[in-house]
Amino acid sequence: MVNEFKLKQEICEVGRKIYAKGFAAANDGNISCRIDKNTVLCTPTMVSKGFLKPDDICTVQIDGKQIAGRKKRTSEVLLHLEIYKQVPEVNAVVHCHPPHATAFSVAGETIPTCILPEVEVFLGTIPTTAYETPGAQDFANTILPFVQKSKIAVLKNHGTVSWGETVDRAYWWTEILDAYCRILLLAKQIGRVERISEPKVEELLDLKERFGIGVDPRRLQNADLCVNTEFGRGYDQASCCSKSPDATIEAAASGPWSDADMERVVQEITDRIMAAAK
Ligand SMILES: [Zn+2]
Repeated sequence: MVNEFKLKQEICEVGRKIYAKGFAAANDGNISCRIDKNTVLCTPTMVSKGFLKPDDICTVQIDGKQIAGRKKRTSEVLLHLEIYKQVPEVNAVVHCHPPHATAFSVAGETIPTCILPEVEVFLGTIPTTAYETPGAQDFANTILPFVQKSKIAVLKNHGTVSWGETVDRAYWWTEILDAYCRILLLAKQIGRVERISEPKVEELLDLKERFGIGVDPRRLQNADLCVNTEFGRGYDQASCCSKSPDATIEAAASGPWSDADMERVVQEITDRIMAAAK
């Protein structure tokens, strides 16, 4: 027999976490938890996830009809329900707008793999859905291609959705992903991003199987282990030299300074001073 009140408390607790982490501004985000095959608890619309009370939580049927709760259910619960319908083992779904992970989809950049061990083991390849207006069934359907092969997806120009056996687990995947994306962005600011070699990633996937986390979908589908290997290449000679002097100065200013960059910038500035002095 499930303890509904306890599950509502867990939803409120994860609500506080996503709000405190900056993953859900104002009333953004929604959390749900399955209580039986066809019944789901979910957060209400227009309420900050940072201040939820168990009494705020709504109960809906798998078709989306609300059957209990004094507040109106979130319209985005349809996205959660699609996941429950597809994967019987999933008991919880967390949707929010973590800034670092969301930034990748806004920039049209696939999140790269083969960089951090934990991400290879827990998440693997992170898909991005097609963009759709949030709330309606078309939006919910954008998750369908990915529910069986992942436990988290980036929603194009919107946020993320993650799912798991418990509310806490579903939240973990979001937290791991956003921390990862933050590290990627910081590393790229320092200069470039270095990868783990494919044989070493294979070792991690062996560990994943040995720990009982499961066979990585990349192995099942014979897919590429490392995606978006272009990410974080840094600024090389070729990308800076073919551009105008202004672009050269900008590229050198935003990337790491090589001796050649420095020489070109000094030359350019000298030329301009000389021209102005004439
Ligand atoms: Zn949203």
